[in-house]
Amino acid sequence: MRPEILYPLFAPVTALPGVGPRLAKLMERVAGPLVVDLCWLLPTGIVDRRYAPTIGDVETGRVATLTIRVESHAPPATPRQPYKVLCSDATGDLNLVFFHAQAEYLRRVLPPGEVRVISGMVDRYQGVAQITHPDHIVPLAERAGVMTIEPVYPMTAGLGPRVLLRAVRAALGRAPELPEWLDRHLVERQGWPVWRQALDAVHVPTAEPDLAAPARQRLAFDELLANQLALALHRRRQRRQPGRRLAVESDLARRAEAALPFRLTGSQSRALADIRADLQSGSRMLRLMQGDVGSGKTVVALLAMLDVVANGGQAVLMAPTELLARQHLATIGPFATAVGVRTALLTGRERGRPRAEVVAGLADGTLPIAVGTHALFQDDVAYADLAFTVVDEQHRFGVEQRMRLAQKGRAPHVLVMTATPIPRTLMLTAYGDLDSSLLTEKPPGRQSIDTRVLPAERLPEVVAAVGRALGQGRKVYWVCPLVEESELLDLAAAEERHTFLRERFGEQVGLVHGRMNGRDKDRTMAAFAEGNVNLLVATTVIEVGVDVAKATIMVIEHAERFGLAQLHQLRGRVGRGRDASACLLLYSPPLGETAKARLAILRETDDGFRIAEEDLRLRGAGEVLGTRQSGLPNFRLADLAAHGDLLISARAEAARILELDPELAGDRAAALRILLYLFERDAGVRYARSG
Ligand code: ADP
Ligand code: MG
Repeated sequence: MRPEILYPLFAPVTALPGVGPRLAKLMERVAGPLVVDLCWLLPTGIVDRRYAPTIGDVETGRVATLTIRVESHAPPATPRQPYKVLCSDATGDLNLVFFHAQAEYLRRVLPPGEVRVISGMVDRYQGVAQITHPDHIVPLAERAGVMTIEPVYPMTAGLGPRVLLRAVRAALGRAPELPEWLDRHLVERQGWPVWRQALDAVHVPTAEPDLAAPARQRLAFDELLANQLALALHRRRQRRQPGRRLAVESDLARRAEAALPFRLTGSQSRALADIRADLQSGSRMLRLMQGDVGSGKTVVALLAMLDVVANGGQAVLMAPTELLARQHLATIGPFATAVGVRTALLTGRERGRPRAEVVAGLADGTLPIAVGTHALFQDDVAYADLAFTVVDEQHRFGVEQRMRLAQKGRAPHVLVMTATPIPRTLMLTAYGDLDSSLLTEKPPGRQSIDTRVLPAERLPEVVAAVGRALGQGRKVYWVCPLVEESELLDLAAAEERHTFLRERFGEQVGLVHGRMNGRDKDRTMAAFAEGNVNLLVATTVIEVGVDVAKATIMVIEHAERFGLAQLHQLRGRVGRGRDASACLLLYSPPLGETAKARLAILRETDDGFRIAEEDLRLRGAGEVLGTRQSGLPNFRLADLAAHGDLLISARAEAARILELDPELAGDRAAALRILLYLFERDAGVRYARSG
């Protein structure tokens, strides 16, 4: 239950004076539905209205606050002309200019003969100073209130800046003083204000917004601490559940390893050792294995699964798509079969008898390993003894899903694999409840990929190069533009390109996209992998995992619209065999500096971790993985690109808090619970209670 002291903040914005349903809708668009959302709406800039010269001295192109006498009104002769109000002071004349003016309103606020204070951007027309649509028109008595530094908030159509500013001020007025949840020494050392003052300070700026300003740092730290504390509580609760103690380095796993046609890389061996240490520790494994595309994660997972099977337990490998599940089974199936271990597939597509057989095998324990999708965790799927769950490409799911999935079986060990390298900061915020292993080495013999960045008008050259490759029996991927928020447009672009390429290269051109049904998709993918499709036009469905050794060229159109990590992953689809491979990134000019820099990074390096860090630096956290689908927490005050060091200290602080007060029951705990609720990390509070 949310602490009562927070009720005013968690009221709907309509609780504020002058905010009705219409304004609430607009405010929801820029901030959110609640009073607290307005408090978190940080200014994006300032307007300094302290410059208050006479008309004779006023500089053009500056925001000024002027005290003037209204002389006369000059309504427009035609509707297209502006309404002018002529004003003056002892030093000169100035015109106020209004388009689409409401004459009645102007006569009311600017009565001739009266003195008024006006503020706005000054320009000059035919030698006369003028202000078009002044931001403020007030009587002399209110001059001091205007001559301030005013915060500028994000705008949305229909919501005037004055109205929003007033609402934010009202929201701040409702913000209570809250008990201090931070360590006193930390606050002193950093010179941070208390929470309530920090909030005021960011909304009453004295300078351009500064991520390093003490008030802003304090608020960011609060948010990061809430995040880290919730994760730490979750992690602690997980650790507390005893995990099944398993004997590792089993004969079975050893035989399978010996039968591999290659030796494990150093990274793979280390990751396997980490996993085995967890399996035999007696507490539950919750580990993330990060490694670039093709770094060999699946094989490591298989060897650990075989250890589990040797102990009489069952293991499952879950992938985000059917296609990937199939491919995983193709990778590990033969190795498992070679040592006499049965494997089977379970996705949404298995139905009737085949499905019933798999489900029965899982229920009676005769099937030790299953590979599949979410279908592995449908209600009617029971396991005789599920001891180990491996989840591939997990970054599409979030902490919540992880928690749910961990509930099948008797607290099974969980290994999460991701091929999208995640910058360390993001990693800590999204996966702070997990241990982690990194695969930094690539298996030997991988070709580096010749990456080129080309403007779209060089398409004919690209088509020619593709033609040559096809002539040599190579396979080519052709990825079509990602059109934000529109699968249909994605599809139209891909279909158009498919038609174009088919005219050129005939029957060997195939198409896969997200709206195809699974069977058709698989048929086309299979035809590309080993059949008569040699040029595959695709939307991003091929992004994850798919492995076709003969593919040596990757063409990506509108590369500027993709995330770097995504481009890196797409590029990883080629260069898997022995032949030299190329990745051609086509962009549509003009390209901004940032976009140019981003694409250049791909040309410079194929180190996924470096690419991820650069992407974070250039684009900011929200963009890097696509927050919504990534399950990444959405930060309102912290900026991970700028506040990475704060995150590290928040993490340390969360650990220290729980070390001193594991039950979160001491003096400071009540305040910390308020913090968790303030940032809606209440799940953390639940763990504290029940854990
Ligand atoms: P990931 O899951 O990290 O993308 P996989 O485990 O699917 O990588 O491995 C990619 C390919 O590399 C597979 O064909 C696999 O058999 C092969 N492979 C894995 N480890 C090694 C290794 N140490 N040496 C050579 N090839 C390897
Ligand atoms: Mg893989």
